[in-house]
Amino acid sequence: MSSGNKIIDESKQGEALLIENSKAGSGKKLFLESYGCQMNFSDSEIVASILMDKGYTTTQNYEEADIIFVNTCAIRDNAEQKVRNRLNDFKRVKKKNKKLLVGVLGCMAERLKSQFLEQEKLVDIVVGPDSYRDLPSLIEEAEDGRKAINVILSKEETYADLTPVRLGSNEVTAFISITRGCDNMCSFCVVPFTRGRERSRDPESIVKEAKEAFESGYREVTLLGQNVDSYIWAGGGLKKEVLTEEQKLNSVNFAQLLELVANVNPELRVRFSTSHPKDLTDEVIHMIAKHENICKHIHLPVQSGNSRILEMMNRGYTREWYLERIASIKRIIPECGISMDIITGFCSGTEEEHKDTLSLMEAVKYDFGYMFMYSERPKTLAERKYKDDVPEETKRRRIQEIVDVQRLHSSIRTTDAVGKMHKVLIEGLSKKSNEMLMGRNSQNAVIVFPKGEYKKGEYVNVFVDDCTSSTLIGKVIGEGMKQDSMK
Ligand code: SAM
Ligand code: SF4
Repeated sequence: MSSGNKIIDESKQGEALLIENSKAGSGKKLFLESYGCQMNFSDSEIVASILMDKGYTTTQNYEEADIIFVNTCAIRDNAEQKVRNRLNDFKRVKKKNKKLLVGVLGCMAERLKSQFLEQEKLVDIVVGPDSYRDLPSLIEEAEDGRKAINVILSKEETYADLTPVRLGSNEVTAFISITRGCDNMCSFCVVPFTRGRERSRDPESIVKEAKEAFESGYREVTLLGQNVDSYIWAGGGLKKEVLTEEQKLNSVNFAQLLELVANVNPELRVRFSTSHPKDLTDEVIHMIAKHENICKHIHLPVQSGNSRILEMMNRGYTREWYLERIASIKRIIPECGISMDIITGFCSGTEEEHKDTLSLMEAVKYDFGYMFMYSERPKTLAERKYKDDVPEETKRRRIQEIVDVQRLHSSIRTTDAVGKMHKVLIEGLSKKSNEMLMGRNSQNAVIVFPKGEYKKGEYVNVFVDDCTSSTLIGKVIGEGMKQDSMK
């Protein structure tokens, strides 16, 4: 359930992606569909790059495909159900075309491993997130009639040397992975099990990718990681706990990486996701403030407003710590957009503790957020230690209360933005009208305005004079100058 702007774009869930391939040779057609978070969509671009290199072309019609890959999400039970339903659609085609191969990639593949091959008879290939380089040989195995699987997790793999093929892109905004995996072990979360240990990517390769994106016309990059603030590069592989003092001195941290990417070009916007409250430093916040082209928006998931629940969740911070981080953001960047994730109905959570989440929301007044009912995941710390004992109907009522509060806060934010100028990066036509363009301001709010002679990829200054509950509406007053986006 979400309110306001999207980081997970629901309209793209399950979208099959089409790309031109100059190396087309084998004539084989790939149907590639992705679910879940942005990281998965970014991984699909790596998968496409590997297979395009082998001469594959893509199709948006799975009935004509030689191979179907589904890049899956395991974060909540309903994400997995969606994939299982989708596999049923492919069963019918496979009956007609015996040569068709079906592969499952990503987090669900990693979680279920060979169990997948047993449970879903039509699946031929199972590949975890760190094994995509092995895809061509796994496909060969499957073509020889053997079931193919590689779910080995790596401590080093970052796919740093691969140039991703931009899939389903608006040709303006691109995603760049900066870390893989996660070491945080939040008790509710399956990610450490499906994506393995946290590792950071060589900053040189990140800057190179950002430069190439800019040179190909992109004007915004989003740096992706499960916890971007814990990014640290000291030559690869190593985790910060094992770095010597000397290695730490010569390392690149997240604030420094932000600056390196911001310096690629002042016309390239830099976004990042996701920040973690326990690791977000003032150094990072000052760096965001320092560069006009680092967007003034921080996605800072809180999960709960109650310290006892936060401790059970193993989040590594308290309510007070979180509110102090928010105070720092507001002090250093008063105009900063702030968004969140919240889980409601976590094990043993009382009514009073639920109210703490509502009161924290009142204190922060988020711009937008993603709100979820707790879904118990196999093998997680919470599944082993705690009972999933909040009744379903209580979870439903609580999430509704949370969503209602967020709706109100989002509409306050939207109304606040009316009557002001915003620097907007144009992303393309608005969804509702071919006569209107859409783009975002620095805070990530969507703004639509009449098309005129403007084109995607350009910056314009838009005066906002109207709004709906989640969209700002305005008129272009001039081309985007180097200035703060909200005045
Ligand atoms: N790494 C990010 C972080 O720590 O905030 C986000 C990772 S996760 C892909 C996105 C969100 O899914 C989390 O912030 C959390 O709110 C939600 N989530 C994760 N596990 C969940 C579970 N078992 N039940 C419900 N929501 C869950
Ligand atoms: Fe999951 Fe926590 Fe890691 Fe986010 S930080 S991916 S919620 S374990």
